[in-house]
Formats: sequence, structure tokens, C-alpha cells
Amino acid sequence: MSPAEMIRLTALEMAEHLRAGTFTSVELTRAHFERINQVDGTADEGVHAFLHLNQDEALAVAAEVDAIRTAGGPEADELHPLAGVPIAIKDNIVTIGQPTTAASKILEGWMPPYDATVVRTIRAAKLPILGKTNLDEFAMGSTTEYSAYGVTRNPWDLNRAPGGSGGGSAAAVGAFMAPLALGSDTGGSIREPAAFTGTVGTKPTYGSVSRYGLIAMASSLDQIGPVTRTTADAAALHELIAGHDPKDSTSLHTQWNTLLEATTDQDLSGVRIGVLEEFQGPGFSAEIWEKFQETLDLLRDAGAEVTTVDCPHIPYALHAYYLIVPSEVSSNLARFDGIRYGNRVVPDGGGTVAEVMAATRAAGFGDEAKRRIMLGTFALSAGYVDAYYGTAQRVRTLVIQDLKHAFEHVDVLISPTTPTVAVKLGDQLEEPLSMYLNDVVTIPANLAGIPAISIPGGTAEHDMPVGLHIQGPAKSDATVYRVASAIEALIEAEQGKPFYDRAPEVPQVQGARS
Ligand code: GLN
Repeated sequence: MSPAEMIRLTALEMAEHLRAGTFTSVELTRAHFERINQVDGTADEGVHAFLHLNQDEALAVAAEVDAIRTAGGPEADELHPLAGVPIAIKDNIVTIGQPTTAASKILEGWMPPYDATVVRTIRAAKLPILGKTNLDEFAMGSTTEYSAYGVTRNPWDLNRAPGGSGGGSAAAVGAFMAPLALGSDTGGSIREPAAFTGTVGTKPTYGSVSRYGLIAMASSLDQIGPVTRTTADAAALHELIAGHDPKDSTSLHTQWNTLLEATTDQDLSGVRIGVLEEFQGPGFSAEIWEKFQETLDLLRDAGAEVTTVDCPHIPYALHAYYLIVPSEVSSNLARFDGIRYGNRVVPDGGGTVAEVMAATRAAGFGDEAKRRIMLGTFALSAGYVDAYYGTAQRVRTLVIQDLKHAFEHVDVLISPTTPTVAVKLGDQLEEPLSMYLNDVVTIPANLAGIPAISIPGGTAEHDMPVGLHIQGPAKSDATVYRVASAIEALIEAEQGKPFYDRAPEVPQVQGARS
């Protein structure tokens, strides 16, 4: 099989071929670096999904897997099913031996002294780590344009954003530079980029995947999750990284070993699918809404019961989110002070500790980080805390209750993932408020801690991908995967090929990627 053919397989197919010996992990990993060399480029041209590449270590891990397989015996039998399949990791997840910047100047060149729990798991399962992917600084944003290291471009159209904050992971997977990637989702940063790039992204139930070693944005909402090209690949990766971790006090003791199996049951008859009264037509672009109606027809034909449900407080979720998030951000980002982490800026002629901290933070943080620190500090200040933060938390409770009631009547809720297709680069850069609206659909799942996935739901304006968002009650991740995979199969049958095979060819870059 040629390298160009290998990279277009799904992760589970790659795993199958590695076991069968059609190709080796070294060949597969090389094929991905070759692809990265062809299309990833730099901040100035190409997709620019990666901030750091990890070629030597990835190839060494691949060679180790190949050697174990060649030797055979118990060690080969014990290999994880995904061993040897390469993966990319969002650069706000800490990795020993590779810089971790969270796309911020304040952490430029920082080498973490430890691995995140998910990274330890991935190393133990022997998945070669290709490198670290771009994001909006500290995962705040919806286009990846707030990265301090340059934008990532959407592989479907290099003039458009790949979504954010995890645009790097989604673009890497969408452009066949990686079959698997990890993202983090605080308000939609896995699902919105998945929608914009025609990939699959899951925000697991809060507590399903350890947050230890994820650079915190808003700890009560953050969750690490998979980015892939198919639902089954996402379920397989989710199963690998999920599980209780004593290092994360919010980690659940639940078992997550039926996620992949759930994707094999593709019967939709009798599945109760809810459409939110509050997320009807207006707010979504006309073409996205039309596409969504077509999908609902497909579901009805397949025997699903589609009904409308009411969550009256959902329209306020976005407002609550943009008070809770800045509040948690202002507290979490306090640790970046030039004393304990990363870079230090000393004012000319020296200064007090407070002056060094101020100079470091002024130079190290970008505009969006500063905006949220200021908003959060204000929302938490004595005299305002109850009016702003307190009210937002009460709204959060109402959203949680609304969703709980909705799930008494339906198994899952579905809608388009985003109001529009991928925006043009630059369009929302000076308009944070319009950017915040990109996440109107995805935010409630974070506030409520429930699982949600975005899968490709066809194309709309300018032939850009549209996401389909499916969410279920807490800990119903297996159900969400089951329904998602059934819908994915319906759409694939209608089109005659998997969605990722509809992606246009990504233009090759001139200079090789270093
Ligand atoms: N776009 C949202 C924000 O800026 C979501 C970010 C995220 O999920 N990390 O807050």
C-alpha cells in the first residue's frame, strides 16, 4: 500500500493492517510525516496545524511496536489494539520532552517536567506522538486566530478558519496529517473545529477523562476528548484515555469499556431524538438549517422518533458561560507570573516582584487572555460577585435542570453544531462578541457536564462541512456514540462514500516543514 493510501484509512483500519502485517508502524508514521511535510507549511503558508513535531521519538516508538510484533509471543498479544497508530496532541496538554506552550508567548519554550495522565496512557499503549497542535491562546477562542504563533488554516479552504480553539488538532486530522488527535473542550473547542473541518469530535461526560496535565482554562468545564475522522475511531480513542485518575479529584469511577462496541449497533428504530424548541431556524444560516431538516427526514425514515423539546433557559447558557469562564480563567491564569513558570520580563533597570509579574503578564498574554482576566477579575470582585458570578451559577443550575427534564422524554438531543460554516480568516478577529456566538450550541453540554459529539452532517454554503451535534444525559457516552455512528452510516449510504473522502485536495506547500 502506498503512503498516500495508508494515511486515508481510518485509525481502526490502520490498526487492523498493522496487526495483519500489511505495513509497519514505522511505514505508517513516516507516511504521516511525509504528508505533514507536503501540506502543513508554516505560519505563513499551508495548513499550519502543528506547533512542534516529534519525529525522532515517534519513529522510535513505531519501531518498538514493530519489533514487538515481529518477535510475537505474549508481549505482542498484550499490545493495545491502537498500538503503532500515530496521534497528534493539542499543545495545552503537557508532554515531557516536547515543549508545551498553550499557544502563548508566556510559555514559549517551556518544557514540562511531567506528562499529563492522557499522555502517559498514550505512551503506555505505544501510540507514536507526531507532535503538538495549534490552538487559540490557552484555548480561548473559536478560530485558532488567537494563537501567539500564527493561524491554522482550514484544509477544506485555506482562506477559512478551522474553528477553535482546537483548530490544529481538527485540521491535522481533516488534512490526513494524523488519524487521531486529542483536543480539549471547555465550550466547544473540540466540536466546533470538528464541524468546521468535516471531522468527528467528542466532549466526553465531565470526569470521564482525566484533566491532570491539561493546562486549565475553566476547570469546572474543561474536558479532554478525541478528534478523528469517524465515530468508531473517536469511541476507540475515548475508551483508551477514559478512566478514573486519583490525580484528578473530579474524575469518575465509571467504566467506559462499551463505547466502541456501541458503534456497531446502528439500529435507530425507536430511538427518541429531541430537537430543541429554542434552537429552531433563526440563528442558523438558511443552508445549514435546510441540511439539518434533510438529516431529520433521514432519521425519521430510519425509524427514529423525532420530537421537539423545550429547554427555556438554554438561550441564557452563553451569557452564563461568558461570566463563569472569565472568572475561572482569571484565577487559573494567575499562576503565570514569570516567577514559577515560563518566561520572565524584567522592567528596564529592575523592579519589585510585583513589577516583574506585571511586566511579564503584559508582554506574555495576548488580547483575548487579557480581556478574560479583566472580565473575570471584575465579575469576582467584592460587591459584584453575587450579581455576576452568582447569577451565572444560578443560570447554570437552571440549564442543568432543563436538560435533565428534556432527557426524561428523549434519548439524545440533536441540532447543527454551529450557526454557520467555517468563517473566513480575519472576519471575526476584531469582533469577539460575534466569535462568542459560534459556540451557542456547544456550551450547554459543558455547563451541564454531559457528553456531546459533532459528526459531519453534509456540506452547505461554499461546499464547506456542516456539523451535526448529538448530546445525551451524563454518562450516556455509549448511547451518544451509538446514535452518532448510526447517523454517520445513514449519511454515508446516501452519499456512497465516507464524508472524509469528499474533502478537496489540500494544496502542497513550497518549503519543507522543519
Ligand atoms: N470558543 C469558546 C471560548 O472561547 C470555547 C473554548 C474551549 O472550548 N476551549 O471560550
